[in-house]
Amino acid sequence: MKITRIAAYAVALPLHEGRYAWSGGKSVSVFDSTIVRVETDTGLVGHGEVCPLGPVYLPAYAAGVRAGLAELAPALLGHDPTQLGPLNMLMDRTLKGHPYVKSPVDMACWDLLGQAAGQPVSALLGGCHGAAVALYRAVSQEPPAVMAERVVGYRAEGYRKFQLKVGADPEEDVARIRAVAQVLERGDVLVADANTGWLTHQALRVVRAVADLDIYIEQPCATYEECLTVRRHTDHPFVLDESVQDLAAVVRAWADRAMDVVNVKISKVGGLTKARLVRDVCAELGIAMTIEDSWGGDITTAAIAHLAHSTPEALRFSATDFNSYVTVRTADGAPQRSDGTMAASPAPGLGVTPRPEVLGEPVLDVP
Ligand code: MG
Repeated sequence: MKITRIAAYAVALPLHEGRYAWSGGKSVSVFDSTIVRVETDTGLVGHGEVCPLGPVYLPAYAAGVRAGLAELAPALLGHDPTQLGPLNMLMDRTLKGHPYVKSPVDMACWDLLGQAAGQPVSALLGGCHGAAVALYRAVSQEPPAVMAERVVGYRAEGYRKFQLKVGADPEEDVARIRAVAQVLERGDVLVADANTGWLTHQALRVVRAVADLDIYIEQPCATYEECLTVRRHTDHPFVLDESVQDLAAVVRAWADRAMDVVNVKISKVGGLTKARLVRDVCAELGIAMTIEDSWGGDITTAAIAHLAHSTPEALRFSATDFNSYVTVRTADGAPQRSDGTMAASPAPGLGVTPRPEVLGEPVLDVP
């Protein structure tokens, strides 16, 4: 099989709630997602998606995806998309860094591999564990009472895991955590995610002030070293996210006993191939994982479902159904949330069929 054409489409994804806000006053109201289409000489076509959480979350931004793809795509024409090892080496030789640019290409190539093999991507990633994957719901940063009210609503939709966006004023963050903790029921999981928003002295005040609560603390500070300081002063289970961008960071954090859970975002590490490697190493080391991405719609959600569903249940802390947060359906066949869970499609490949009328004309077309 040979790649004959790579096209990219820009899709705007507004949010049902109108706005998503996190630490430092950052927010997004319409996500700028890029869907990549990889055509082959066999007639098979694969799709991938990448959607940065705006330009100020990770070192990734939507226009950068398209500029990077224009650089990368011509070098990939004529190569076999099902040979994912060589293909990833070729991408890394052609464009240094910029893992988020490579992620949708790699994802589309897994889609092609699955279609060619007649197998769902989850089977190629190791096979499905259990019937479904439990999801978390991100809770946009609002005043404490609003966040508590939202959590009650999300519980009614079936979610049992809640990731509170904190990382603002420490006293108000303590109020946010306490307000939400009061509405939880037995079996619920609460994560306070500061998204790098606290300095260490602020984080230390917060973890001490909520020491009596059964909660997780996620990425309190900007750097790994600051997070490690906080980690060493709290007995709350600890999650790292923004600080862990590759396998080397996982290994370092494991050696330092710096985390109990890590967030594996597909585009942060450069696609499903590298996310699978991180996932398998974490599973062997006993590090639980949230399997997700920076954001996205139906295709990203499908890829998350395949990676999450093929992760052993004991190591699967949670996953995300981003397609239920946004108002636009970009593909048919994507997982749909049911009682706070989702399942990978049993159809070959990612199991998604993009809607041409939503994708529109390509913003990049490399034949
Ligand atoms: Mg996070």
